[in-house]
Amino acid sequence: MTASTGICNDEKTRARHGVRILFASMALAIPGLAAAQSDGEKPLLHDAHFHLTNYIQEGLEISDFLEIMGDEVGRVAIFGVPLQQAWAYSNTGDFAPVTYAQTDAPLYYYSFTDAAIATAYLSLPDKQRARFDPMITGFNPADMYAVDHIRRVLTTFPGVFTGIGEFTIHKEFVSAKTAGGPASLLDPALDRILDFAAEAGLLVILHNDIDMPFPRPGQDPYSARQLGTLLRRHPNATVIWAHMGLGRVVHPVNDMAGIIDRALSDPELAHVYIDLSWTATAKYVAASPEAVAITAKLINSHPDRFLFGTDEVAPPNQEIYLQNYSLYAPLLSQLDAVTREKFLKGNYERLFDAARVRVRAWEKENVK
Ligand SMILES: [Zn+2]
Repeated sequence: MTASTGICNDEKTRARHGVRILFASMALAIPGLAAAQSDGEKPLLHDAHFHLTNYIQEGLEISDFLEIMGDEVGRVAIFGVPLQQAWAYSNTGDFAPVTYAQTDAPLYYYSFTDAAIATAYLSLPDKQRARFDPMITGFNPADMYAVDHIRRVLTTFPGVFTGIGEFTIHKEFVSAKTAGGPASLLDPALDRILDFAAEAGLLVILHNDIDMPFPRPGQDPYSARQLGTLLRRHPNATVIWAHMGLGRVVHPVNDMAGIIDRALSDPELAHVYIDLSWTATAKYVAASPEAVAITAKLINSHPDRFLFGTDEVAPPNQEIYLQNYSLYAPLLSQLDAVTREKFLKGNYERLFDAARVRVRAWEKENVK
């Protein structure tokens, strides 16, 4: 069977149609989805957190990803993975690891990812480009020269990028095996990056676990405290905190909802937003009716501050791609209509549109 026979299109259309039928049936099964779809409006959502490529820099053609987005997904904040998982023969022999959990071999920063994302974006016609917000990730946040890489990518690919990130400081299983040593929230290199983001208008997506894996009872969640101090030092940078700081084993800290509520109520943190991307985060949010109710209360009381995201990495189809949307169906049904629209689309549009305008203006001033 070859792509040129046209079967491809018919099959693709049939497959997409199949997914739609699937979604329609799921809508009936899951109240939130039905509620979310009740307005019948497409797109259903924008995705504030998507990886086109994985830890060995393989992934989807952006044109194939557009197919997976369909009409259900409007806009996507798109980036690669800034780290390459090394395949060390001395460590795994012929076994080729595809992610960081499959080998002790190190991860190293892979700056070419930004050129790959820019090239994919520029391969699209204008109408399709408008659906994407490419983000620069290929830098080491512990390098005082990282800010120069960001500036260089902007001037090499003007008209492409909207922001930086997702980049990572503390991340379970990853930071400790990154070549060159882990990044730190105390590092002036990070202040240089956030100063430049504020200057150029680049939207920032930052990954930092709220706590360390397996903390001892009563252990000081210093990571959360250090993050708060860093963010207060950069009031002019717009920062989206990825996954609300949760992870596979990094679970909610004591009084998590209280900590988040107080932080979002603090005028010194008015420039901070939260994406609820990753199924690991959804796992905690949707763990019980109580967890759903607590999270819904938090989002309803801060309607402008939360964004939907998938954190999917080169998914094979729409069902996998949107599994986070399905997992959040109970949560969606407990958000008031205005807040739900902002969580799924409005906050994305407000933040990413503002960043696009500012970054283009910076480029106009700074790109010869
Ligand atoms: Zn991510």
